[in-house]
Amino acid sequence: MFDKILIANRGEIALRILRAAKELGIQTVAVHSTADREAMHVKLADESVCIGPPSARESYLNIPALLAACEITGAEAIHPGYGFLSENARFAEILADHNITFIGPKAEHIRIMGDKIEAKRTAKRLGIPCVPGSEGGVTDDVEAMRIAKDIGFPVLVKAASGGGGRGMKVARTPADLSVALSTARTEAKAAFGDDAVYLEKYLEKPRHIEIQVLGDGLGNAIHLGERDCSLQRRHQKVLEESPSPALNDRQRGEIGEIVAQAMRDLAYSGAGTVEFLYEDGKFYFIEMNTRIQVEHPVTEMITGIDLVVEQIKIAAGSPLTISQADVQFSGHAIECRVNAEHPATFRPSPGKISYYHPPGGLGVRVDSAVYQGYTIPPNYDSLVGKLIVHGRSRTEALMRLRRSLDEFIVDGIDTTIPLFRTLVRNTDVQNGDYDIHWLEKFLATGGMGEG
Ligand code: ADP
Repeated sequence: MFDKILIANRGEIALRILRAAKELGIQTVAVHSTADREAMHVKLADESVCIGPPSARESYLNIPALLAACEITGAEAIHPGYGFLSENARFAEILADHNITFIGPKAEHIRIMGDKIEAKRTAKRLGIPCVPGSEGGVTDDVEAMRIAKDIGFPVLVKAASGGGGRGMKVARTPADLSVALSTARTEAKAAFGDDAVYLEKYLEKPRHIEIQVLGDGLGNAIHLGERDCSLQRRHQKVLEESPSPALNDRQRGEIGEIVAQAMRDLAYSGAGTVEFLYEDGKFYFIEMNTRIQVEHPVTEMITGIDLVVEQIKIAAGSPLTISQADVQFSGHAIECRVNAEHPATFRPSPGKISYYHPPGGLGVRVDSAVYQGYTIPPNYDSLVGKLIVHGRSRTEALMRLRRSLDEFIVDGIDTTIPLFRTLVRNTDVQNGDYDIHWLEKFLATGGMGEG
């Protein structure tokens, strides 16, 4: 096992990793930008190193500065968290060249899954069901039209290097296709420096269901069930739960085993998530994330397995000690992503938290890095924290969520807590009766008032 690791991230995930390391008896090194001097992860780590100015490009994405921080502190491994360098295959290779362990999968797997066209090809080869679409990228508009007519409109134009819901455009009819192609290409070029796009059948009313996996790189892999992340705004997850209200045990076991077998075949190492759209009883692969995800706590709450501890143990070279039969699902968990944003307009609201009171009690978990008097800097994403509740049933979890949200006070800034207070009282949400478009429609039809 490692003696000391460096956490190349900030916010709640930096704290989350720090907690796992401490429970393993590992020394922790925090890194931070000048905007994050007062951040909680800096206060709680054993050591900290300032790695640059506020701009993420010059700090959290600054590879030479991270290498220097390892050198100075003697850290043997880096946990990248999510975002920033977590899915950068080149970073994983550079660390290997410097004899520093990357706490994550092999660089080749990050690279394959980071290119969505390559990822889909690989998924197909491994027997994972995919959304019908183009075989590879589409460069020629005439060819694109032929393929689109083949799969049938509406179609979705997606960026090969896509992420965070950007570079995606729907073409409802043949007349929309050429504009969809050119806007997706322009957006993809601007956001990812790569204008390669591909086509997929646009599913009208799917749920987003993803499978959590753990592999040890030695050919052992297990699945830890699913997370239903269908409540989305602008293709970004807002609320996640497990188990999915749409699946039964047989369906869960079947798709879970397909994915686990694929990970065994790949000799995948570390934690990963294989994402699907689910419609009319069928699963369609959309992408794989080769990192820990924001919503991982819902899986931890129903399995009792610490996913970050497992990531660290696997990176240190230990074989998986949990077998598929050891994974037992208990009760129901729901997570709300609380953002520093206006609950109706979603305008970012960085600033000073004048009063802070998180909820507590049985089955309540708050993963956050803020505190009373802390000033949220404007430079990074707007996640304030995650409220996760666990109950013996979905009904119990929903009631627990309701009372936890009512207890939760964050004054001085706008947060999305009022949005969740409204959602948890909504009949469709209570019935689990929603697809990936539900929240957008709810907001568009004045679900949150005028704001
Ligand atoms: P990103 O990497 O940008 O998050 P994904 O491929 O994971 O992109 O898709 C993000 C979201 O976009 C999905 O959860 C879903 O809401 C929507 N989406 C993606 N592909 C399709 C599709 N073929 N049909 C309908 N919606 C889709």
